[in-house]
Amino acid sequence: AEETLRQAQKMETVGQLTGGVAHDFNNLLQIISGNLELMQRNLPEDAPRLRRAAENAMTGARRAAQLTQRLLAFSRRQPLQPKPTDVNGLIAGMSELLGRTLGEIVEIAIAPAPNLWRVEVDPNQLENALLNLAINARDAMPEGGRLTIETANEKVDARTRDIAPGEYVTISVADTGVGMARDVLERAFEPFFTTKEVGKGTGLGLSMVYGFVRQSGGYVKAISELGGGATVRIYLPRLVGQDERDPGETQPEPVETR
Ligand code: ADP
Repeated sequence: AEETLRQAQKMETVGQLTGGVAHDFNNLLQIISGNLELMQRNLPEDAPRLRRAAENAMTGARRAAQLTQRLLAFSRRQPLQPKPTDVNGLIAGMSELLGRTLGEIVEIAIAPAPNLWRVEVDPNQLENALLNLAINARDAMPEGGRLTIETANEKVDARTRDIAPGEYVTISVADTGVGMARDVLERAFEPFFTTKEVGKGTGLGLSMVYGFVRQSGGYVKAISELGGGATVRIYLPRLVGQDERDPGETQPEPVETR
Protein backbone atom coordinates (compact mmCIF):
# COMPACT_ATOMS: atom_id res chain seq x y z
CA ALA A 1 0.00 0.00 0.00
CA GLU A 2 2.90 2.30 0.78
CA GLU A 3 4.36 1.69 -2.66
CA THR A 4 1.10 2.67 -4.38
CA LEU A 5 0.77 5.76 -2.20
CA ARG A 6 4.24 6.84 -3.26
CA GLN A 7 3.25 6.18 -6.84
CA ALA A 8 0.12 8.33 -6.47
CA GLN A 9 2.15 11.18 -4.94
CA LYS A 10 4.64 10.97 -7.75
CA MET A 11 1.88 11.19 -10.36
CA GLU A 12 0.44 14.15 -8.50
CA THR A 13 3.78 15.99 -8.52
CA VAL A 14 4.55 15.16 -12.13
CA GLY A 15 1.05 16.34 -13.02
CA GLN A 16 1.55 19.69 -11.32
CA LEU A 17 4.90 20.28 -12.97
CA THR A 18 3.73 19.18 -16.38
CA GLY A 19 0.56 21.21 -16.10
CA GLY A 20 2.44 24.42 -15.33
CA VAL A 21 4.83 23.97 -18.22
CA ALA A 22 2.10 22.92 -20.65
CA HIS A 23 -0.06 25.88 -19.67
CA ASP A 24 2.71 28.45 -20.20
CA PHE A 25 3.89 26.73 -23.34
CA ASN A 26 0.36 26.80 -24.69
CA ASN A 27 0.20 30.55 -24.22
CA LEU A 28 3.46 31.02 -26.10
CA LEU A 29 2.18 28.75 -28.80
CA GLN A 30 -0.86 30.97 -29.25
CA ILE A 31 1.48 33.89 -29.91
CA ILE A 32 3.53 31.86 -32.38
CA SER A 33 0.63 30.48 -34.38
CA GLY A 34 -1.34 33.73 -34.29
CA ASN A 35 1.53 35.69 -35.78
CA LEU A 36 2.35 32.91 -38.19
CA GLU A 37 -1.17 33.00 -39.52
CA LEU A 38 -0.96 36.75 -39.98
CA MET A 39 2.32 36.40 -41.87
CA GLN A 40 0.91 33.59 -43.97
CA ARG A 41 -2.07 35.68 -45.04
CA ASN A 42 0.18 38.53 -46.14
CA LEU A 43 2.74 36.54 -48.08
CA PRO A 44 3.06 37.54 -51.74
CA GLU A 45 1.57 35.09 -54.25
CA ASP A 46 4.89 34.65 -56.02
CA ALA A 47 6.84 33.36 -53.03
CA PRO A 48 6.36 29.58 -53.15
CA ARG A 49 9.37 28.80 -50.95
CA LEU A 50 8.21 31.15 -48.24
CA ARG A 51 4.70 29.74 -48.49
CA ARG A 52 6.02 26.22 -48.04
CA ALA A 53 8.15 27.29 -45.10
CA ALA A 54 5.15 28.95 -43.46
CA GLU A 55 3.05 25.82 -44.09
CA ASN A 56 5.72 23.66 -42.43
CA ALA A 57 5.92 25.98 -39.46
CA MET A 58 2.11 25.81 -39.10
CA THR A 59 2.18 22.02 -39.19
CA GLY A 60 4.77 22.05 -36.42
CA ALA A 61 2.70 24.45 -34.37
CA ARG A 62 -0.40 22.25 -34.76
CA ARG A 63 1.54 19.20 -33.55
CA ALA A 64 2.87 21.15 -30.61
CA ALA A 65 -0.70 22.20 -29.77
CA GLN A 66 -1.83 18.55 -29.78
CA LEU A 67 1.00 17.71 -27.46
CA THR A 68 0.12 20.44 -24.99
CA GLN A 69 -3.54 19.36 -25.11
CA ARG A 70 -2.49 15.88 -24.02
CA LEU A 71 -0.27 17.22 -21.29
CA LEU A 72 -3.05 19.46 -20.05
CA ALA A 73 -5.34 16.43 -20.01
CA PHE A 74 -2.81 14.51 -17.92
CA SER A 75 -2.34 17.31 -15.45
CA ARG A 76 -6.13 17.69 -15.14
CA ARG A 77 -6.22 21.22 -16.41
CA GLN A 78 -8.44 20.31 -19.28
CA PRO A 79 -11.77 22.10 -19.59
CA LEU A 80 -14.38 19.36 -19.35
CA GLN A 81 -18.07 19.44 -20.19
CA PRO A 82 -19.58 16.72 -18.05
CA LYS A 83 -23.09 15.49 -18.83
CA PRO A 84 -25.20 12.62 -17.54
CA THR A 85 -24.02 9.81 -19.80
CA ASP A 86 -25.14 6.34 -20.76
CA VAL A 87 -21.82 4.55 -21.13
CA ASN A 88 -23.29 1.54 -22.96
CA GLY A 89 -24.83 3.83 -25.56
CA LEU A 90 -21.58 5.73 -25.96
CA ILE A 91 -19.63 2.51 -26.54
CA ALA A 92 -22.24 1.19 -28.98
CA GLY A 93 -21.88 4.44 -30.91
CA MET A 94 -18.14 3.83 -31.25
CA SER A 95 -18.34 0.38 -32.83
CA GLU A 96 -17.72 1.57 -36.37
CA LEU A 97 -14.79 3.75 -35.31
CA LEU A 98 -13.36 0.85 -33.30
CA GLY A 99 -13.69 -1.50 -36.25
CA ARG A 100 -11.80 0.90 -38.48
CA THR A 101 -9.12 1.53 -35.86
CA LEU A 102 -8.46 -2.11 -35.05
CA GLY A 103 -8.62 -3.54 -38.55
CA GLU A 104 -9.78 -6.95 -39.65
CA ILE A 105 -7.30 -9.02 -37.68
CA VAL A 106 -8.78 -7.98 -34.35
CA GLU A 107 -12.10 -9.36 -33.24
CA ILE A 108 -14.15 -6.94 -31.16
CA ALA A 109 -16.51 -8.08 -28.43
CA ILE A 110 -18.70 -5.62 -26.55
CA ALA A 111 -20.34 -6.81 -23.35
CA PRO A 112 -22.68 -4.14 -21.94
CA ALA A 113 -24.05 -4.72 -18.45
CA PRO A 114 -27.84 -4.58 -18.20
CA ASN A 115 -29.27 -1.68 -16.15
CA LEU A 116 -25.95 0.09 -16.08
CA TRP A 117 -25.90 3.08 -13.74
CA ARG A 118 -25.43 6.47 -15.27
CA VAL A 119 -22.32 8.59 -14.82
CA GLU A 120 -21.52 12.26 -15.28
CA VAL A 121 -18.57 12.70 -17.61
CA ASP A 122 -17.49 14.62 -20.68
CA PRO A 123 -18.67 12.16 -23.35
CA ASN A 124 -16.17 13.38 -25.97
CA GLN A 125 -13.27 12.88 -23.63
CA LEU A 126 -14.52 9.46 -22.57
CA GLU A 127 -14.68 8.46 -26.22
CA ASN A 128 -11.19 9.80 -26.69
CA ALA A 129 -9.94 7.81 -23.70
CA LEU A 130 -11.51 4.58 -24.96
CA LEU A 131 -10.05 5.18 -28.41
CA ASN A 132 -6.61 5.57 -26.85
CA LEU A 133 -7.03 2.26 -25.04
CA ALA A 134 -8.15 0.60 -28.27
CA ILE A 135 -5.09 1.93 -30.12
CA ASN A 136 -2.81 0.54 -27.41
CA ALA A 137 -4.61 -2.79 -27.67
CA ARG A 138 -4.13 -2.81 -31.43
CA ASP A 139 -0.42 -2.06 -31.04
CA ALA A 140 -0.14 -4.93 -28.57
CA MET A 141 -1.70 -7.37 -31.05
CA PRO A 142 0.29 -7.03 -34.29
CA GLU A 143 -0.73 -10.55 -35.25
CA GLY A 144 -4.37 -10.01 -34.36
CA GLY A 145 -6.44 -11.12 -31.41
CA ARG A 146 -9.47 -10.00 -29.51
CA LEU A 147 -10.51 -6.76 -27.88
CA THR A 148 -13.23 -6.96 -25.26
CA ILE A 149 -15.02 -3.94 -23.83
CA GLU A 150 -17.12 -4.82 -20.82
CA THR A 151 -19.17 -2.59 -18.54
CA ALA A 152 -20.39 -3.32 -15.02
CA ASN A 153 -21.98 -1.77 -11.94
CA GLU A 154 -19.50 -2.18 -9.14
CA LYS A 155 -19.62 -1.49 -5.42
CA VAL A 156 -16.16 -0.81 -4.05
CA ASP A 157 -15.64 -1.31 -0.33
CA ALA A 158 -12.90 -0.14 2.01
CA ARG A 159 -10.88 -3.28 1.41
CA THR A 160 -10.11 -2.28 -2.18
CA ARG A 161 -6.75 -0.59 -2.44
CA ASP A 162 -6.32 2.76 -4.18
CA ILE A 163 -10.02 3.32 -4.90
CA ALA A 164 -12.33 5.29 -2.62
CA PRO A 165 -15.27 3.18 -1.43
CA GLY A 166 -18.44 3.86 -3.37
CA GLU A 167 -20.53 2.89 -6.37
CA TYR A 168 -18.90 2.93 -9.78
CA VAL A 169 -19.56 2.12 -13.37
CA THR A 170 -16.55 0.20 -14.63
CA ILE A 171 -15.39 -0.05 -18.21
CA SER A 172 -12.84 -2.79 -18.83
CA VAL A 173 -10.88 -2.79 -22.04
CA ALA A 174 -9.08 -6.11 -22.41
CA ASP A 175 -6.84 -7.42 -25.15
CA THR A 176 -5.08 -10.69 -25.90
CA GLY A 177 -1.81 -8.99 -26.85
CA VAL A 178 1.79 -9.08 -25.67
CA GLY A 179 1.00 -7.81 -22.18
CA MET A 180 3.27 -5.81 -19.90
CA ALA A 181 6.17 -6.78 -17.71
CA ARG A 182 6.03 -5.52 -14.15
CA ASP A 183 8.38 -2.58 -14.70
CA VAL A 184 6.36 -1.42 -17.72
CA LEU A 185 3.07 -1.82 -15.84
CA GLU A 186 4.41 0.33 -12.99
CA ARG A 187 5.28 3.20 -15.29
CA ALA A 188 2.61 2.86 -17.98
CA PHE A 189 0.59 5.91 -16.84
CA GLU A 190 3.57 8.24 -16.61
CA PRO A 191 3.71 10.96 -19.26
CA PHE A 192 6.30 10.28 -21.98
CA PHE A 193 6.81 6.69 -20.87
CA THR A 194 6.72 4.52 -23.98
CA THR A 195 8.23 1.27 -25.16
CA LYS A 196 7.30 2.04 -28.76
CA GLU A 197 9.70 3.16 -31.47
CA VAL A 198 10.45 6.83 -31.90
CA GLY A 199 7.67 8.34 -33.96
CA LYS A 200 5.21 5.55 -33.10
CA GLY A 201 4.44 6.35 -29.50
CA THR A 202 4.45 9.57 -27.51
CA GLY A 203 3.87 7.95 -24.15
CA LEU A 204 0.92 10.26 -23.59
CA GLY A 205 -2.03 7.95 -24.33
CA LEU A 206 -2.42 6.40 -20.90
CA SER A 207 -1.45 9.66 -19.17
CA MET A 208 -4.37 11.37 -20.87
CA VAL A 209 -6.68 8.58 -19.81
CA TYR A 210 -5.36 8.85 -16.25
CA GLY A 211 -5.79 12.62 -16.09
CA PHE A 212 -9.28 12.59 -17.60
CA VAL A 213 -10.52 9.83 -15.33
CA ARG A 214 -9.06 11.42 -12.17
CA GLN A 215 -10.50 14.79 -13.15
CA SER A 216 -13.87 13.06 -13.53
CA GLY A 217 -13.67 11.75 -9.97
CA GLY A 218 -12.81 8.23 -11.06
CA TYR A 219 -9.90 5.82 -11.06
CA VAL A 220 -8.05 3.74 -13.58
CA LYS A 221 -5.96 0.64 -13.20
CA ALA A 222 -4.06 -1.67 -15.46
CA ILE A 223 -3.79 -5.40 -14.97
CA SER A 224 -1.34 -7.34 -17.09
CA GLU A 225 1.29 -9.99 -17.31
CA LEU A 226 3.96 -10.35 -19.92
CA GLY A 227 2.50 -12.53 -22.67
CA GLY A 228 -0.90 -12.60 -21.01
CA GLY A 229 -2.70 -9.65 -22.58
CA ALA A 230 -3.69 -6.48 -20.76
CA THR A 231 -6.82 -5.07 -19.17
CA VAL A 232 -7.31 -1.41 -18.40
CA ARG A 233 -10.27 -0.75 -16.13
CA ILE A 234 -11.84 2.67 -15.70
CA TYR A 235 -13.97 3.40 -12.63
CA LEU A 236 -16.43 6.27 -12.98
CA PRO A 237 -18.52 7.34 -10.00
CA ARG A 238 -22.21 6.52 -10.26
CA LEU A 239 -24.42 9.53 -10.88
CA VAL A 240 -27.09 9.77 -8.24
CA GLY A 241 -29.78 12.38 -8.11
CA GLN A 242 -32.61 13.57 -10.26
CA ASP A 243 -30.69 13.25 -13.52
CA GLU A 244 -29.90 9.68 -12.75
CA ARG A 245 -32.75 7.98 -14.53
CA ASP A 246 -32.94 7.76 -18.24
CA PRO A 247 -36.25 9.28 -19.32
CA GLY A 248 -36.85 6.10 -21.32
CA GLU A 249 -36.31 3.89 -18.33
CA THR A 250 -38.52 5.34 -15.63
CA GLN A 251 -39.68 2.85 -13.06
CA PRO A 252 -43.38 2.00 -13.02
CA GLU A 253 -45.27 3.79 -10.26
CA PRO A 254 -46.15 1.50 -7.36
CA VAL A 255 -49.85 0.63 -7.51
CA GLU A 256 -51.88 1.45 -4.44
CA THR A 257 -54.26 -1.26 -3.34
CA ARG A 258 -56.81 -0.76 -0.60
P1 ADP B 1 2.24 5.03 -26.16
O1 ADP B 1 1.09 4.18 -26.64
O2 ADP B 1 2.41 6.27 -26.98
O3 ADP B 1 3.50 4.28 -25.94
P2 ADP B 1 0.81 5.07 -23.64
O4 ADP B 1 0.88 6.01 -22.49
O5 ADP B 1 -0.54 4.86 -24.23
O6 ADP B 1 1.82 5.62 -24.72
O7 ADP B 1 1.38 3.66 -23.21
C1 ADP B 1 2.62 3.58 -22.51
C2 ADP B 1 3.23 2.18 -22.63
O8 ADP B 1 2.42 1.24 -21.92
C3 ADP B 1 3.27 1.62 -24.05
O9 ADP B 1 4.42 2.07 -24.75
C4 ADP B 1 3.29 0.12 -23.80
O10 ADP B 1 4.58 -0.33 -23.44
C5 ADP B 1 2.44 -0.03 -22.56
N1 ADP B 1 1.04 -0.41 -22.90
C6 ADP B 1 -0.05 0.39 -22.91
N2 ADP B 1 -1.15 -0.30 -23.25
C7 ADP B 1 -0.76 -1.58 -23.46
C8 ADP B 1 -1.44 -2.80 -23.85
N3 ADP B 1 -2.74 -2.80 -24.07
N4 ADP B 1 -0.69 -3.92 -23.95
C9 ADP B 1 0.63 -3.91 -23.73
N5 ADP B 1 1.32 -2.81 -23.36
C10 ADP B 1 0.65 -1.66 -23.24
